[in-house]
Amino acid sequence: MITEHFSAAVTYRRPDGTTGVVIVGGKTAQEAQEAADRDARYYLGISYAIEGIVLVAYCARCGGTGKAQAKRNRLRQIVCPDCRGKNSERTLKSGV
Ligand SMILES: [Zn+2]
Repeated sequence: MITEHFSAAVTYRRPDGTTGVVIVGGKTAQEAQEAADRDARYYLGISYAIEGIVLVAYCARCGGTGKAQAKRNRLRQIVCPDCRGKNSERTLKSGV
């Protein structure tokens, strides 16, 4: 069974034109979305502009890479047994 974790990337633009990104996470998509909304409100509150919010889901075991460490030899990478290497990161929502 695949356990998914969720994260959201909030991209913001400072008044001087430089940009930054903050990654927030959650155990559910809603939790990650709420954390992203909270951060977006904070940045808006200090006069930053929000460029975008991207919400993604990924396999919790391998972090979306499709690879895991072998139990006996941690230097050896194996195909993630949870998602069988297929569960690469997927985007749930992208926008502002
Ligand atoms: Zn996996």
